[in-house]
Amino acid sequence: IHWDNHVRSSAQIRRSNGFSVLVTGAAGFVGSHVSLALKKRGDGVVGLDNFNNYYDPALKKSRRDLLTAHGVFIVEGDVNDAKLLAKLFDLVQFSHVMHLAAQAGVRYAMENPHSYIHSNIAGLVTLLEASKSANPQPSVVWASSSSVYGLNEKSPFSESDRTDKPASLYAATKKAGEEITHTYNHIYGLSITGLRFFTVYGPWGRPDMAYFSFTRNILQGKPITVYRGKNHADLARDFTYIDDIVKGCIGSLDTAKKSTGSGGKKRGPAQFRIFNLGNTSPVTVPMMVGILEKQLKVKAKKNLVDMPGNGDVPFTHANISYARSEFGYNPTTDLQTGLKKFVKWYLSYYGYNHAKSV
Ligand code: NAD
Repeated sequence: IHWDNHVRSSAQIRRSNGFSVLVTGAAGFVGSHVSLALKKRGDGVVGLDNFNNYYDPALKKSRRDLLTAHGVFIVEGDVNDAKLLAKLFDLVQFSHVMHLAAQAGVRYAMENPHSYIHSNIAGLVTLLEASKSANPQPSVVWASSSSVYGLNEKSPFSESDRTDKPASLYAATKKAGEEITHTYNHIYGLSITGLRFFTVYGPWGRPDMAYFSFTRNILQGKPITVYRGKNHADLARDFTYIDDIVKGCIGSLDTAKKSTGSGGKKRGPAQFRIFNLGNTSPVTVPMMVGILEKQLKVKAKKNLVDMPGNGDVPFTHANISYARSEFGYNPTTDLQTGLKKFVKWYLSYYGYNHAKSV
């Protein structure tokens, strides 16, 4: 196949004891940042992404161009393509898989339930099948989500808290993913780390997320819809800056133990971990809007609307002591600082005038 050589050169390791990592969802928001950080420190990285049109594919292509410039090659393909995965594992002995490909977003699930099953359930299983059959078996680190805590009312959320009230199909697929990965862990000896990300934001972010679409609308003079919870209470999110998430991803990768299976057979107990990666300081959505208004120097036209009950949860708040103790996870970016960096990127990428005219 024509891209064999690109894959091999992208997988090349440039530091002693470096990893070779297959990053799925590499053209995505988190995947592009993680791929770049791994490549920069000298690991071999190969990306995989299907460039779907859930949001602007041009933004995914720009992220790909950035990665290509740094020597990271992204194979265009679907995680459900078992033949493609077998080919990749044949070309490269990956030490790790960083599985970030997924159908994200909670509201889109109302109209498109099957895209969540396709990417988050079937795609995950296809990837685990390929990983368990690979020789050597890679360690798998994958993105779960804070959404598994659902309508849990205890705060902050700890990993051992109940996750039996998912508020969306998205959350249900992430919760299912935790059970599925656990099964592959004990049947086949795959080393598994699940990361429950809490509302990740920053440069090169996802246009479907509130901080991003609010920025666009505020600059265009269009109204924004701000949801409120029960009794008009403000929603709050544990907004976590992308660089902190990247550090968490890499910390978890560095402490992932080797898988203990071979040729699809388990040879001993393997590591299974689940970590919260959040910021531990929730901010209300109206406060987030206030920060944006200050930085954009434009007043937002806010429509306050009661939450329609289609997937959003009232608040999220991470207890991060487990990740802190296992790999020194220590988020350092507050929302003001992080949004400043986002707005700077947004204006340089789209341009102020362009943003106004779109
Ligand atoms: P994203 O949508 O920007 O990235 C996901 C990427 O995966 C996209 O580029 C998409 O094209 C690709 N993809 C989707 N389905 C695929 C498939 N079947 N085959 C190949 N590629 C596929 O989202 P993100 O914000 O970067 O999220 C990364 C991961 O983190 C996801 O698993 C998401 O569920 C999880 N997560 C994100 C957040 C957040 O706030 N951003 C919070 C919790 C969990």
